[in-house]
Amino acid sequence: MTENEYIKNLYIREDAVLKKVKKSMTVNGMPQIALPPDSAKLLYMLARISGAKKILEIGTLAGYSAIWLARSLPEGGSLLTLEIEEDFARAASQNFIIAGVEDKVSITVGDALNSLSSLRDSGENFDFFFIDADKIHYPDYLEMALEMAEPGALISADNTFWGGKILDPSDREETTEKIRRFNRMLSTDERLESMIIPTGDGLAVARVKEA
Ligand code: MG
Repeated sequence: MTENEYIKNLYIREDAVLKKVKKSMTVNGMPQIALPPDSAKLLYMLARISGAKKILEIGTLAGYSAIWLARSLPEGGSLLTLEIEEDFARAASQNFIIAGVEDKVSITVGDALNSLSSLRDSGENFDFFFIDADKIHYPDYLEMALEMAEPGALISADNTFWGGKILDPSDREETTEKIRRFNRMLSTDERLESMIIPTGDGLAVARVKEA
């Protein structure tokens, strides 16, 4: 048994709802890229420990990670999740009802950068962010998150190892380069203190410093 298997066996419980959500992805022809359960549990823990009350997720897919995050919320907490594909958003809405989190979760359908600009322009703030959408725009999503982050907010992101491609210097593919840039931004931006946790495909977590 590997250490990862040990952790999964002992600490990760996917209930019937979460299993159903995974299944809904096949039915709806979604890419099979939901967050692995160990990353999801870690994300849940981060949101819970930080006391997040207002979460913004970029990239809904079937709503798997959104359900984990919604379950971390206290009474009165809310989660807004952004999804570009209308079909995926519809499937996710169904899943939120199945999970009984529909009162806490709302979805905005459309290009995430447009949605983020509108949110920023209307003065919205969040205390927890989860970035897990198209990788090309990770640096842009980070900039937008920083503009809407409460002091002390957490910004988390999936796929920061990009399946190990970031470690291969001969890989100059645009997506790989954008993730490298994103990781460098997390590491060097004066407004942040950051870490990548080597769970799943690399879960980054950054804390927005108080000014
Ligand atoms: Mg992902």
